[in-house]
Amino acid sequence: MRPETIAIRTQTERTGEKEHSTPLFLTSSFVYDSAEDMADAFAIEDLDVNIYTRFSNPTVDEFIKKVCLLEGAEDGIATGTGMAAVFSAFMTFLSSGDHIISASAVFGSTHTILTKYLPKWGIEFSYFNMNQPDSIEALIKPNTKMLYVETPSNPGLDIIDLKFVADICKKHNILFVVDNCFATPAVQRPMDLGADLVLHSATKFMDGQGRVLGGIVVGNKALVKQMYLFVRNTGPSLSPFNAWVISKSLETLFVRMDKHAENALKIAQSLEGHPAISWVKYPFLPSHPQHDIAKKQMKNGGGVLTFELKAGIEGGRKFLNNLKWLSMTNNLGDSRTIASHPASTTHSKLSEEERAAVGISPGLIRLSVGLEHPDDILEEILQALGL
Ligand SMILES: *Cc1c(COP(=O)(O)O)cnc(C)c1O
Repeated sequence: MRPETIAIRTQTERTGEKEHSTPLFLTSSFVYDSAEDMADAFAIEDLDVNIYTRFSNPTVDEFIKKVCLLEGAEDGIATGTGMAAVFSAFMTFLSSGDHIISASAVFGSTHTILTKYLPKWGIEFSYFNMNQPDSIEALIKPNTKMLYVETPSNPGLDIIDLKFVADICKKHNILFVVDNCFATPAVQRPMDLGADLVLHSATKFMDGQGRVLGGIVVGNKALVKQMYLFVRNTGPSLSPFNAWVISKSLETLFVRMDKHAENALKIAQSLEGHPAISWVKYPFLPSHPQHDIAKKQMKNGGGVLTFELKAGIEGGRKFLNNLKWLSMTNNLGDSRTIASHPASTTHSKLSEEERAAVGISPGLIRLSVGLEHPDDILEEILQALGL
């Protein structure tokens, strides 16, 4: 079956009721028929036996199975948030004395883990600039264990050639981890290009309606088994209810991503050249610095675009205040279009230099383009720009 069909037709569990849709198993634990069965379940530490929902749950398993099929991965583990997925990947595979290389353009909380927490536990990190992939190899040291990237990055929309980075990691025997949150498997499949682990904030496009939090990591069986044991014992597990919601959302992932991208491209094209804007960044605009790479590894440009207001920080505040119905919030990947101004909100505590280092300029507006009619979205933005 093709991925579009798999997303809709994957159902791992049916009860005796022969229900058409997936049941929701809201249970903390599972019962046994005998003392021997119970003893076996604990002895095996097997992924297939449900013991306790912190370890595994049929509804969560269905979500994992779907994402594995969509990403082309053997196995996966689900977590309560995207950050729990990132943190669990770091904690499972990095030990005191190890070194991790990461693109500097990563999600804010990932940046905080790398810079504030890992050093506390004796794990060093090095940053490289997404626009200079040739600088990666010089950063590799004997203790380098992991290379981490996010492409497209949040919020800078920088893109890196996944195959190029995967080849470097293979050559040096380094674990290659990709945050595929912005693209989703409907747009880009990092495993096919050589990634070892692919992770997501399922909170974003996977859920797609801004309702629940969730995270997932997929990869080969051996790596995921290690992560499974970490999550099982430390507890950042996904709630079955959230898994059920996200699983349901995956049925529409492909049509949603196509429409998000169609709307985003239309808006990006229309805004380019606007007198109040100095530039527009969107992976499928020819003006994007890594447009060729985007075309090579992505099916479409995804649902997020950014633009820079000539009027800087003040202009950003004014733009947000001029909005009539478009949502002013920090989430993304929602059916509703969302605008945010990182310099005056999420990144307001950083200096201008620090913001520049993570790709945030004073007048940067991030637009997560929703599924409304594109002409309505465009009219709303144009009026907020003051024209
Ligand atoms: C939101 C986000 C995360 C964190 O996910 P949560 O579900 O909010 O914990 C990680 N990476 C990227 C790229 C994100 O956009």
